[in-house]
Amino acid sequence: MPSKNASQFPGLETLFDQLADAVYLIDPVTSNIIWGNTQAWKSLGMTPNDILNHSVLSLQKDVHGAPQWKDIANEIFKTDCFRFLGRHQHRDGHEIEVEVNTTHFTWNDQRFFLSVARDITNRVLQEPSASEDNSSELFALNEASDGTWDWSIQTGEVTFSPQLKRLLGYGPDEMPGVLDTWKDNIHPEDAPLVLATIKEHLKGQRPRYEATYRLRNRNGHYLWVQDRGRICERDKNGSPTRAMGLVHNITDQKHVELNLQKLASYDLLTSLVNRREGMKQLVLQMNLARRLNTPLGIAYLDIDHFKRINDVFGHQQGDETLKKLAKVLRHVIRSSDTICRWGGEEFLLFANNTDLDDMVALGEKIRREVRAAFFDDRSPITISLGITTSNGEEEISETLARADTAMYRAKHNGRNRVEFTSPDIQPSQVDL
Ligand code: GH3
Ligand code: MG
Ligand code: MG
Repeated sequence: MPSKNASQFPGLETLFDQLADAVYLIDPVTSNIIWGNTQAWKSLGMTPNDILNHSVLSLQKDVHGAPQWKDIANEIFKTDCFRFLGRHQHRDGHEIEVEVNTTHFTWNDQRFFLSVARDITNRVLQEPSASEDNSSELFALNEASDGTWDWSIQTGEVTFSPQLKRLLGYGPDEMPGVLDTWKDNIHPEDAPLVLATIKEHLKGQRPRYEATYRLRNRNGHYLWVQDRGRICERDKNGSPTRAMGLVHNITDQKHVELNLQKLASYDLLTSLVNRREGMKQLVLQMNLARRLNTPLGIAYLDIDHFKRINDVFGHQQGDETLKKLAKVLRHVIRSSDTICRWGGEEFLLFANNTDLDDMVALGEKIRREVRAAFFDDRSPITISLGITTSNGEEEISETLARADTAMYRAKHNGRNRVEFTSPDIQPSQVDL
């Protein structure tokens, strides 16, 4: 198949440059822009190289996570003209409200998308005053949020405000005014909780409905929204007949929050969970072990003579060694096991439903793999492991003390070894 490029369309470029709209020729398979008129890059403060061979999705403002291009492409193929309202991001940071009309065609046995993006910023600014319902309260609510909804509970009809439609990528005359339009676009992981919350409000178990969840917009990306509403009308029997609510787009805040949560739980150097998060997960695993009556295997790992690595090769090489070790450990453990950076060059591993014999075997395997992975290294290392198990009935400190004792015995007995302390033996009874 010949490659798709602009030279296949000689002479058209000058013509397209006369247009005030941005025009993009897109490869439906990869989503890459293969040609654009001057407006296509100029309107975004960019150069041709900034857009050519880049995914058309990269122009969008509200794109987070892996976008489902295949789904979008299928939607485009289904219609004669796919219309999408979105926001393009200008290089200097400001947003441009755009209406994008995309058509598909076949040329020389190859399929193409042609998108025409029109800057509708001025139209959007005028929208509130042109809206059908010009009651000042609704206008104020619309302005204070990213959209409002008005639900006739018994008929299932929902009026979505123009702002809400735009947030989700629909034009004013699109997005069917029925509950399913909203329900079907809630992220499947969030839907049960959101729907349960609204049910509880309707039953009178909650004074109002409030939920934070992911809502899919028309081009298949999820936005994080905060949605709040309450019943505002009832029939003579007291049954709710109408509810209204406000939606806020909190995508940017949510991503900052999720990143902060990640930062708070993970160790920056090794990307393993940090001690704080490790402790939290250990508490959960201990509780699970007790409830299910299954043993929890614990291994305490410490690098042998790590100070020497820092002394001989420098601290930076020490850091690289820690990173490599974390990678090896992640690779060796099973997906149900947790490995955490417990301290400087100490790691804690816990494995559910693993008895002492199996845990010792796992420890041996880890010791061997670490030794092999570093054998030819510029700065070779080995590790010592202390192993124990717990039924979850004791204090965590007792479990950890046993693993620690076993680890020090491994050091004492020559390093690069696995030692264990049975849960039947208290640390004070252990003879070093
Ligand atoms: P042993 O076999 O007895 O464990 O000997 P060791 O040299 O490993 O002794 P110890 O465990 O007491 O020393 C830990 C060393 O790890 C001390 C510290 O300088 C180094 N270390 C701790 N955290 C880091 C880190 O983040 N980066 C680097 N490069 N070194 C670290
Ligand atoms: Mg140590
Ligand atoms: Mg050490």
